[in-house]
Amino acid sequence: MTTTANQPKELWEAVLGDLQMHVTRPNFETWLKNTVGIAFRDGEFVVGAPNAFVAEMLEQRMYSLISLTAERVVKGPVEVRFQVLLSEEVDAADEPEDADDQRLTEAEPTGVLHPTFNPKARLTTLNTKYTFGRFVVGKSNELAHAAAEAVSNRPGEVYSPLVLYGAVGLGKTHLMHAIGHRAVASGLSLIYATTEEFTNEYIKAIGEGRTEEFRDRYRSTDVLLLDDIQFLIGKEQTQEGFFHTFNALHMTNRQIVITSDRPVSALTLLEDRIQSRLAGGLVVDIQAPDIETRLAILRAKAETINQDVPQTVLDFLAERIHKNIRELEGSLNRVVAYADLTGSLLDVELVKRAIDGLADPDEHRAILDYVVVDTVATHYGVDQQALKGRKRDKKTAQARQMAMYLMREDGNMGLTAIGRALGGKDHTTVAYGCDRIKTQLPVDAQLRRDLLKIREALAAA
Ligand code: ADP
Ligand code: MG
Repeated sequence: MTTTANQPKELWEAVLGDLQMHVTRPNFETWLKNTVGIAFRDGEFVVGAPNAFVAEMLEQRMYSLISLTAERVVKGPVEVRFQVLLSEEVDAADEPEDADDQRLTEAEPTGVLHPTFNPKARLTTLNTKYTFGRFVVGKSNELAHAAAEAVSNRPGEVYSPLVLYGAVGLGKTHLMHAIGHRAVASGLSLIYATTEEFTNEYIKAIGEGRTEEFRDRYRSTDVLLLDDIQFLIGKEQTQEGFFHTFNALHMTNRQIVITSDRPVSALTLLEDRIQSRLAGGLVVDIQAPDIETRLAILRAKAETINQDVPQTVLDFLAERIHKNIRELEGSLNRVVAYADLTGSLLDVELVKRAIDGLADPDEHRAILDYVVVDTVATHYGVDQQALKGRKRDKKTAQARQMAMYLMREDGNMGLTAIGRALGGKDHTTVAYGCDRIKTQLPVDAQLRRDLLKIREALAAA
C-alpha cells in the first residue's frame, strides 16, 4: 500500500510540473495541460484526459516519459492509465473524495463514461476563432473548404452528410465550426457534439430511461455536427443510437456534417450500414498543407497576434513543421513568447534555440524495412524467419501485421514493397494486415503499448 493514496490531484500536478520541463510547450499545452489526477492506489495512477484523442496520444506517444516521470515523483513503480473526462468532471476533481458519487474514483475498466445528461444545459459551443474568415485556403484543403461553403450556404440541400476526413491538426474541426457559425447566423438550430459527447449522452440517456428526450433533442435539430466519428468504433450500442438519429435527420433533409481522422473505407469496425450511409454522402479529404499554405497560415497567425515576424523566421518554421497546423501555430506562439521573455530579437538563431526539440517527429521516421523486421521480431520474441514465413499463431500473426503497419505508416512504403520485405506476401495481405492493426489500436491498449515500445526502439535504432 502506498501512503499517498488520497492525493491523486496534487501528485499528478507534481508529475506535470516535472513533465513541463521535459516536453516542448506546444506539446505540453496540447496534450498534458488539461489532464487531472483522479486516483492513485496500489501503484495504479488513473489520469483523466479531456477526450479520447488526447488519452490516446498520451498513451501512444508519451507513455514512457510519463510513466518514468510519475515513478520519479511517486518514488515507486507506477502503472499510468488514462481515462476520458468530461469538462464537468475536470472541475469535480476539486471535490473531496467522498463526493456524492463514485464517478471519479471508480474508473470503469470498460471505458464507459460518466456524463451528466442534461439536454438543456449543454449549449452548443463553437470556437469563435474557427470561422471561414480565418481559414486559409490552399491546395490541400480547397475541396473540403468548398464543400463546407456549399453546405453552409444551402444546408440540407446539397450534400448530406458531408464527411471531412484527414489527419490530426489539419483543420477538420475548424471547418466544421465554420459551418456551425454560418448556420447559427442564419437562424438554424444546431447541435455540435464530439462523438465522445454524443456517446456519453446516449449511454446516460439509456441508463436513465430518457432516450425519448435524447431522441427529440437530436432529431429536432436543423444541423448536426458530429466531430471525430472514429470514436464510435467499438461502441455498438451508440452506433445503434447514431444510426437511428442519422436516419431521422437524413429523411427530413437536415444537414449532417461529420469528421473522421481516417477515410470512410477505413472505418471498418463501424457497422456496415453506418459505413455505407457515410459513404453515400460527400466525402472529402484534407491533406497536409503545402509550403505556400503553411506560410500563409503563419502570416495570418502572426497578424492575429499582432506580431511583426521576419520572413526568414516564417520560412524556417514553415519548412520545418509540415504535417500539423496546430503544431505550426504552436511553434509561432512559442518563438514569439521566447523572444518576449528573453527580450531578444526574433530571428532564426533565436528560433533554433526556442524550438529545439520541436522538430517534426515525422522527420525522424524514415525507417528501413529490415530494421522494422528486426525490431518487431525482438519485441515480440519471435524469429525473423517466422515473420517472413507463413506461421499463423496469434503472436506471430500480430507481429507480422505490426511490421506491415509500421512500414506503411512510418516508413511510407508501398504495399508491394512491404510484401516483398516480408518474404513475398501479396499486397492484399499487407493491406489487410495494416488495416487490422489500425482498427485494433483504438480498442486495444496493449497493442498501443506494443506500438509505442516498438516505435521507441526504432527511434533508438
Ligand atoms: P483537426 O480537427 O483536423 O484535428 P483543427 O480544426 O483542430 O484540426 O485545427 C488545428 C488548428 O489549426 C486549429 O487551431 C485551426 O484553427 C488551425 N487550422 C487548421 N487549418 C487551418 C487553415 N487552413 N487556416 C488557418 N488555421 C487552420
Ligand atoms: Mg478535430
